[in-house]
Amino acid sequence: MRALITGGAGFIGSHLSEFLLSKGFSVVAADSLVTGKESNIKHLMGNDNFEFINTDVSRELAVDGELDFVLHFASPASPIDYQTIPVETLLTGAYGTRNALELAEEKNAVFLLASTSEVYGDPEVSPQPESYWGHVNPIGLRSCYDEAKRFAEALTMAYHRKRNVDTRIIRIFNTYGPRMRANDGRVIPAFMTQALNNEPLTVFGTGKQTRSFCYITDLVEGIYRVMNSSLTEPVNLGNPDEYTILELAERIIKITSSSSEITFMPLPADDPKRRKPDITRARELLGWGPGVNLDEGLRETMNWFRK
Ligand code: UDP
Repeated sequence: MRALITGGAGFIGSHLSEFLLSKGFSVVAADSLVTGKESNIKHLMGNDNFEFINTDVSRELAVDGELDFVLHFASPASPIDYQTIPVETLLTGAYGTRNALELAEEKNAVFLLASTSEVYGDPEVSPQPESYWGHVNPIGLRSCYDEAKRFAEALTMAYHRKRNVDTRIIRIFNTYGPRMRANDGRVIPAFMTQALNNEPLTVFGTGKQTRSFCYITDLVEGIYRVMNSSLTEPVNLGNPDEYTILELAERIIKITSSSSEITFMPLPADDPKRRKPDITRARELLGWGPGVNLDEGLRETMNWFRK
């Protein structure tokens, strides 16, 4: 089996590359290295079954030879990243997804779109099932990401319905683990580095907003199951254990034995108040559910950030 992973040098893409290699796949990783990092895949570079292509998928995506899977993960994913390059984010969701779908059609490969819980916006129902259509501000600061992914889902379904491409859509909820960039702005790398440096943890707003955090190895197993299924409907992948951001801050201080205090900062616009996946579909149809609890995952992540 040969798989192309766009965004293959990113946080999730690099873990997925490693996992597929361990399953005997040949992997082609394509990445523009805008938010991905060469150091994430350096250890894979000597592997005969691994190939890296430095390309911006919104401009060009050409791969020689056969492909069984096109796994489309390329996109900035952290709010401060996508708000710094909103136009590029929208173009990656649009042209990048088109280029990846065209390639999947040409190669007769299964296409998998890495979509996001952000398609649900600031949700009015909780937990969020795949049947929920979402509550997104189309002109807000997050819209460049949310609408790019919503467009990407629509494009994927159009290629499926009209061009017979064999497609999958996963909606990834907050995921964490080793290889997140310390400065990517997301809450776990931010709190972890602050706690390890005994600096104040910056809680935005009251800290009563919630998130549900999935450890990277659980997510990758879920992706593998969706790839190998025949589900064309979207599938939520995430850990349903829900925490307030304040609880998360307290846990990270405890786990790192830090002397950090908590400081409160203004809540960014359109910050979703709660997020929790309904993973009934993944559980019932794929037998998938997360196995790593938050404390275990945070400890692994801490060990990596320490290094
Ligand atoms: N957050 C925070 N302090 C930080 C970074 C983030 O309180 O230094 C909050 C943020 O406002 C949001 C939650 O943590 O409510 C998760 O933010 P993140 O950027 O990780 O992901 P999101 O789920 O918002 O895309």
